[in-house]
Amino acid sequence: MRVLIADDEATTRIVVKAMVQKLGHEALVAIDGDEAWDVLQSVAIDVLITDWVMPGLDGLELCRRVRAQSAGTYTYTILATAMSERADVLAGMQAGADDFLIKPIDPFAVQTSLIAAERVTELHNQLNRFRGQLEILNGELAEQARTDPLTHLGNRLRLEEDLYALHSRAQRHGRPYSIAMCDLDHFKEFNDTYGHPQGDDSLQRVAAVLAVDMRGGDSAYRFGGEEFTLLLADALLPGAVIAVDRLRESIEGLAIPHAGNTPFGVLTVSAGVATYDPTGVLTSAEVLEHADQALYAAKHNGRNQVATTRTESVATTR
Ligand code: GH3
Ligand code: MG
Ligand code: MG
Repeated sequence: MRVLIADDEATTRIVVKAMVQKLGHEALVAIDGDEAWDVLQSVAIDVLITDWVMPGLDGLELCRRVRAQSAGTYTYTILATAMSERADVLAGMQAGADDFLIKPIDPFAVQTSLIAAERVTELHNQLNRFRGQLEILNGELAEQARTDPLTHLGNRLRLEEDLYALHSRAQRHGRPYSIAMCDLDHFKEFNDTYGHPQGDDSLQRVAAVLAVDMRGGDSAYRFGGEEFTLLLADALLPGAVIAVDRLRESIEGLAIPHAGNTPFGVLTVSAGVATYDPTGVLTSAEVLEHADQALYAAKHNGRNQVATTRTESVATTR
């Protein structure tokens, strides 16, 4: 353990330091409370053995500060007092001291105190290690809870959080954004024809296109089933439609055979796009709802196309 001895008497410092070192610990010394506090600020100290009465910062105040500061590490604190100050020990313990020594200091008492200190220090270290591991696990769990296991895209929970943040930013800075709702065409039939595992594989390939081909700052999510949501920051409607249509084309370009998806013969996606206009009053849920209505129009108009909430499709390769 690293032990800091704070005492304004040179003899006490020398005796306690020798004892601490003899017991196999590292010993640092401070000639008063202020110097001890400086050391405590710059080095991690396992045990502080401090005199009660010192010029400047006294032992009681030092205990108080050590306890108020303790963020991650624990400093086991031993207050050394003369016999005449014994009544003050209670106040010292209440201020945060873990133990006390009566002056003149008996080396045997230092030894027994340090055994207790070692046990408590080890427990605190163990606790810190567990806390660190828990924090890592919590982070991993939070990430897992927001990730779709099949496609590794963000799931609906992450979409909700990101959309909330995007909408707030857009409102604050008077910026637009667009949302696209995408849905694979005749996917039930795809599964029926090629089997569910093949369906899963196709979902992964489509997700990879969305994840890789999107502009930086934009993001793709698996909304559920064979539906994906795209958030396009700063995008006005015409730009968003062009960007989403490019993705639609890339998915068609995967050329995944889908005989039941006439007249295309390959797996395709339909998409609906809606935009948040910062001068308007739409909520994020309403923008999402408009994108969903547009998707419905894209399906109705023949699939494999991008539509907006206006009834006509604004982009199609056919
Ligand atoms: P539409 O073009 O109108 O969207 O027709 P559709 O058949 O794609 O729509 P529908 O909602 O009837 O069917 C969606 C299908 O998506 C049904 C379901 O089997 C399939 N699906 C949803 N989630 C998964 C999944 O995780 N894996 C696989 N393989 N299929 C899925
Ligand atoms: Mg669907
Ligand atoms: Mg579908």
